[in-house]
Amino acid sequence: MKTKILVTGGTGYIGSHTAVSLIESGYEVVLIDNLSNSSKETVVGIQEITGTKPKLEVVDLTYKKQCADVFAKHNDAKGLIHFAALKAVGESVKRPLQYYYNNLSSLMNTLECTVDNQINNFIFSSSATVYGKPDNVPISEDFEMKRPFSPYGNSKKIAEEIMEDFIVSNDSLSIISLRYFNPIGAHESGIIGELPTGTPNNLMPYITQVAAGVREKLLVFGNDYPTRDGTPIRDYIHVVDLAEAHLKALKRLLDRENEKTMEVFNLGSGKGYTVLEIIHAFEKVSGKQLNYEVTARREGDVPELISLPDLANIKLQWKAKRDLSEMVKSAWEWEKKIRTKVNGE
Ligand code: NAD
Ligand code: UDP
Repeated sequence: MKTKILVTGGTGYIGSHTAVSLIESGYEVVLIDNLSNSSKETVVGIQEITGTKPKLEVVDLTYKKQCADVFAKHNDAKGLIHFAALKAVGESVKRPLQYYYNNLSSLMNTLECTVDNQINNFIFSSSATVYGKPDNVPISEDFEMKRPFSPYGNSKKIAEEIMEDFIVSNDSLSIISLRYFNPIGAHESGIIGELPTGTPNNLMPYITQVAAGVREKLLVFGNDYPTRDGTPIRDYIHVVDLAEAHLKALKRLLDRENEKTMEVFNLGSGKGYTVLEIIHAFEKVSGKQLNYEVTARREGDVPELISLPDLANIKLQWKAKRDLSEMVKSAWEWEKKIRTKVNGE
């Protein structure tokens, strides 16, 4: 009998890559998603890669009854990974209540349904945004959580606080919260990847769309930061490395190796790259000149965010393995694949 794992947000970018890793490691996977930012075709992609078609339950987790029904149906699951959330930083500034409502009510329903069905092992997608503007880098997990710059980021900070409170009176539950730095890239097959709707907020999909001719030019938000070339530094992590970290976290919980009922880990490479370094890495890998222009700083951006990933390296026995050229190459392969589909070639 395979161990069943529920993956909310499972047709999304990180959820689908994690589903592939879970299936390849012998788990039975049930995806739970309302398809608000993804497509059910992802299930076909997962099947193409793994040879196994995961079950997809189309459920909006903000509805308590829908959540309770799907959990009752799968109450033989042994763990849950909660990816489901809205994630567009800029949109969250315009629609804060939608973000707080969606991200927090779905979390609260999921937590409650998890405990009601004795599923007991819960992994949460958090973000480096919970550190706000840190006083220095690299950032370790014991750095203070500061108010993030967007309602999206704040929903992650509040989510961690809700879980801290919830666990006090639900001691059968164990939680691992994973704070991602900057996930980029796609599965090496080019079959699944990130599908940004509308104008991308993030650097990597913006770069690949400019190179593919979907957008005219990349705007580089500021080159007057106190960094080696004046552009901000981020800790980019390959999405497949990120997926593998979820497997390690899950194993830690299933094997009862966790040292506290709620643990927190940074997931990053520990290395930082500037925006210009990412552009140049892309140009090298793709052989294309990227049309870009330096413009004013983007509000809320901080000069440097780099993780100290030692805790995850030691306790989860996980390390980011894939380098910048693999990240950039896989993102570019994925973009070319989407364009072929869109253009019907
Ligand atoms: P994504 O949008 O591709 O995936 C999220 C999925 O959740 C989507 O498929 C969406 O349809 C689903 N969803 C949203 N609200 C739902 C609801 N109420 N009920 C059911 N399904 C719902 O995003 P992603 O990049 O894969 O991110 C996954 C998680 O990781 C999110 O929680 C996100 O906040 C977090 N995260 C992402 C990044 C990043 O840069 N991608 C960085 C840090 C943290
Ligand atoms: N960035 C940029 N132009 C863009 C998008 C992003 O110059 O169109 C920069 C941004 O200022 C930041 C870095 O790229 O320094 C990474 O931004 P992203 O939005 O991908 O991730 P963040 O670190 O903000 O979560």
